[in-house]
Amino acid sequence: LAGQRGSSSSSSSDASSDSGCGIFRVVLLGDGGVGKSSLANFFAGAQDAQSEHGGEDSYERTLTVDGEDTTLIVMDTWGSEEPWVQDYCMQVGNAYVIVYSITDRASFESASELRIQLRRTRQAENIPIILVGNKSDLVRCREVSVEEGRTCAVVFDCKFIETSATLQHNVRELFEGVVRQIRLRRDSKEA
Ligand code: GDP
Ligand code: MG
Repeated sequence: LAGQRGSSSSSSSDASSDSGCGIFRVVLLGDGGVGKSSLANFFAGAQDAQSEHGGEDSYERTLTVDGEDTTLIVMDTWGSEEPWVQDYCMQVGNAYVIVYSITDRASFESASELRIQLRRTRQAENIPIILVGNKSDLVRCREVSVEEGRTCAVVFDCKFIETSATLQHNVRELFEGVVRQIRLRRDSKEA
């Protein structure tokens, strides 16, 4: 797991700051089949940045956003059945991407539960959370409207975006958005 790489990255679990070395862990949450691994693979393989495997299901890349470099470790470890892995995921993220499929209402409901679980686990922390409605290309199978996704994000005080991992639509924007949300918190802390 990514958190075990290097001593400096395991020393802090305070989500509002980095891991002590300018690297931020981004944990993907969501039901099986919603597209977490597809999104992670896009992140791992996208151009214009050097990528490096940070562990079995973790991908480390440096993104240049608004002229500034930020290194993210995207962790696609939630799918594990092991309860300790899920506990670990809830603890170590500096940011969270909660994914559902727009073609699967049950996955949308799970996303809400995950948001609540996250709030319970990381109560005092102001962690960036992005709600993602994936598979936006499957227009005719849509079960969750854009408006519902947006409303849910407002209620849960997080960002919202619809993506298509297959068409690579909005996926870059998603990870750039994560970087911007992390910076917003960093900057407001310094102010
Ligand atoms: P995970 O279980 O959340 O990691 O989901 P996967 O990334 O393994 O994807 C599950 C299935 O959905 C795979 O067959 C993917 O090819 C498919 N899939 C993922 N993202 C999209 C998408 O944006 N559009 C469509 N049409 N299929 C997708
Ligand atoms: Mg997967």
